[in-house]
Formats: sequence, structure tokens, C-alpha cells
Amino acid sequence: VQALLARADEQRALGAFLAIDAEAALAAAGAADTQLAAGDAPALAGVPIAHKDIFVTKGLPSTAGSKMLAGYASPFDATVVARLAAAGTVTLGKLNCDEFAMGSANENSAYGPVHNPWDTTRVPGGSSGGSAAAVAARLVAAATGTDTGGSIRQPSSFCGITGIKPTYGVCSRYGMIAFASSLDQAGPMARSAEDCALLLSAMSGFDERDATSAERPPQDFHAQMLAVRDGASAARPLEGLRIGLPREFFAAGLSADVDAAVRSALAELEKLGATLIDVSLPRTELAIPVYYIIAPAEASSNLSRFDGVKFGHRAAQYTDLLDMYKKTRAEGFGPEVKRRIMIGTYVLSHGYYDAYYLQAQKLRRMIADDFQAAFRECDLIAGPVAPTVAWQLGEQGDPLQAYLADIFTLPASLAGLPGMSVPAGTGAHGMPVGLQLIGNYFDEGRLLHAAHALQ
Ligand code: GLN
Repeated sequence: VQALLARADEQRALGAFLAIDAEAALAAAGAADTQLAAGDAPALAGVPIAHKDIFVTKGLPSTAGSKMLAGYASPFDATVVARLAAAGTVTLGKLNCDEFAMGSANENSAYGPVHNPWDTTRVPGGSSGGSAAAVAARLVAAATGTDTGGSIRQPSSFCGITGIKPTYGVCSRYGMIAFASSLDQAGPMARSAEDCALLLSAMSGFDERDATSAERPPQDFHAQMLAVRDGASAARPLEGLRIGLPREFFAAGLSADVDAAVRSALAELEKLGATLIDVSLPRTELAIPVYYIIAPAEASSNLSRFDGVKFGHRAAQYTDLLDMYKKTRAEGFGPEVKRRIMIGTYVLSHGYYDAYYLQAQKLRRMIADDFQAAFRECDLIAGPVAPTVAWQLGEQGDPLQAYLADIFTLPASLAGLPGMSVPAGTGAHGMPVGLQLIGNYFDEGRLLHAAHALQ
């Protein structure tokens, strides 16, 4: 922990950390040492991690990357944070992210951008950009992230690390500052599928404080990852595994370098015994308009709580209550958050609800149905995470351009399915490329098993 604190200081220019509590980290490390010496240490005793600043933490700031929550002190820890601490992890601090997790490059943080450790002129991806950069730069062994529409998978891909977004409901949303509640899901970001499996076992599980938490027994994802599948051998651990390649994921828009890297990873999976088959997810293109209606709609409702009364920022000067609300929100929210609130209130407004929000909900169901049709033919789905490698900081001025780059991550989010990013070599400019693996509901074990075999 001492070495990592020094390293984090050295690497401050990356912008990965928003807050570090060295004293608390060293105290936790000392406690872990004592437990380890006594032989009664919990599973992750002494493992140095850090949390995306979208999780509330007692004793550390919780800003969600927003000026709105500058100075806010949470009276409690998010369930995911509390469970990882109970498993013995040592928290170094809080990690930068896009404001309220809205973004794909970590350039929407009110506290400045994060730089990609592979090339500091490039973005780390987003919205869990601080988490991905911190793991890739070896500032922590692992980090937490959240994925509403790709925010674990895409930054993992851009920074060459492994990340998993579990099935919606596997990790508690209690204490995760809400963006789009029907999509938000927490997950680990780490160096390997094995590390992800260990973290996910600790952070997941039913929580009565989250109404959408899945009521399932605790899972040992590490054991599931290691399980020998029927017909498998040491040389061919994936024998019998059918991997579906959606033709819509390998279509126009996918850059040639990412396509080549993904295809070489698929060839590896084949050598390990998997069978590759063609499948179709015909409504892939619609995932973008559907997500960019549903997510802002939910965000506009969730973010109404930031009114200057209950949490965080309040305008210094105002004439009356309405003026206080207006000034507080005008000052506290950044441009992307304001854009989402305006889109969200528009699609939910009387007269437009049926035309936009209701249509999007119906299409969301059809996108989920397309996956179920595909899973009748295959066990896992594979493809790229993002159409390109990480772009240059400041390169993407138009928000629509960023929305379009979410095309391969949004379908699984809308369906609530588990998805992973696994390193698949490098593409243009020597930048990392991620292979995306998508599983059926609660099939994290099989996802991790395939990813582990590849690593
Ligand atoms: N890039 C997407 C967005 O801006 C996804 C963000 C996320 O998953 N939190 O909404």
C-alpha cells in the first residue's frame, strides 16, 4: 500500500484519482497484516483497490464527477463498497469518472479528464475512465466500475484490462449514485478474469436495500470460472462451447484494426475448442436511439433530487425558492448532464411520451428477445466492445459522435445481460482492443470461464 501510494503520487498527471486517504489505507493495510498473521483473514485481505466516485463512501468524498456534489459527505458506504471492505480489501481512494457516469471518454468530469496510460494524449474511455486508467497504470490491483451503457466494458477495452458487467440485479445499486436505474449495474475492473471473479464474488449478492436486487444465493464465481466443462480437456478447455458472432457487430462502422484484433482472439477461442457460429441481432442499430431515450428519461427523474436543498451544491445568491433551484442546477451541472435532463424531460412530457418513451420501451423488449433467439443457437456471444481504439483527448467535439460509438455495448445493457471486455491485443497506434463476450442471464460463470481460458 505504501508503494502504491507513492506511485499514485508519481502518476498524478494521469488524473485517475479524485481523492486519496493515505492514513485510512495504511490503517486498513495494517489490520489486514494482523489478520493474515493470525491466520483468520478474509478472502481479499490486503488487496489494494479504489472505487469509482459514483459509489458513496463514508469518510471519503463522493462527487459522481460533478460540481453538484463537491463537498458532499455521505453518511454511509454503498453496499458494494461495504462488502469489498468486509472481504478485506484496502481502499486507497476514489476514482475520476464522467459526471453522473454520462460519457464515453471521461472528458465530462467536472474535475478534469483522465489520460490513457498507454498514450497520455488519448482518452481512457468512460464513464469509468479513472478506474480503467488506475488498473492499467498499476496504481491499484483492481477497481470498481459501473456500467449503464458500456461504462465498464468500453474503458476496460481502451485501457487493455479485464472488466465484467454482471447481469442486472447481481450487484446492489444501494449507494450507487443513480444515473438510469433500470440499466445501472456495478462490476469489477482488474488485470484478469480471475481477479474479476474473486472481486465479483465479494461484491455481489442479494441486498434488501435495492428493490431490483436479484434474490439468489451467494455465488463463488472463481469456482465457476475454474469448473471443468463436459467434454473439455486441458488443451481444449472450451470444447463444446458455441460462440455466436452477431453479423451486425462485424458490419460497416467497425474499424479494420479492431476487426483484425477481435478476429485473432476468436481464432484463439476456436483453438481452445469453441465453435464459432453466425447469429443475428437484427435490432442492434436501434439500441442507440432506444438507449438515448430511456437513459436520459430515467436520469431526468433521478437527478431531480439535486435541488440545492438536500445534497451538495447550493447557489450563493438567489431571490426565492424557484430562483435557488434554477441557479443551483445551472451552476452545479455540466453541459452533458444538462443535455440529458432536457432530452429526458422532453421524451417524458405529455404528448411525446407515447411517441418516444413508450416506443423505446417496446423496442427494448424486442432487443432482449433478439438475444434470447440468438441464445437458442449459442452459449455466448462475442464481438468488439467499441468500433475503434481510444481516441485523442479533445478529438470528439460532437456528442452524437460519442453516442454512436456505444453501438456494441448498448444492446446487452438494454437486455440486462452480463458482458465482459477481455484484452485482445492491439490495434491502430499500438492501442489496446477488447473482445466483448456476452452471456445469458446469470451466466457470469461461463463468461469468466471462457475469458480465463483465453488469458
Ligand atoms: N456512454 C454511455 C453514456 O454516455 C454509457 C455510460 C455508462 O455506461 N454509464 O450514457
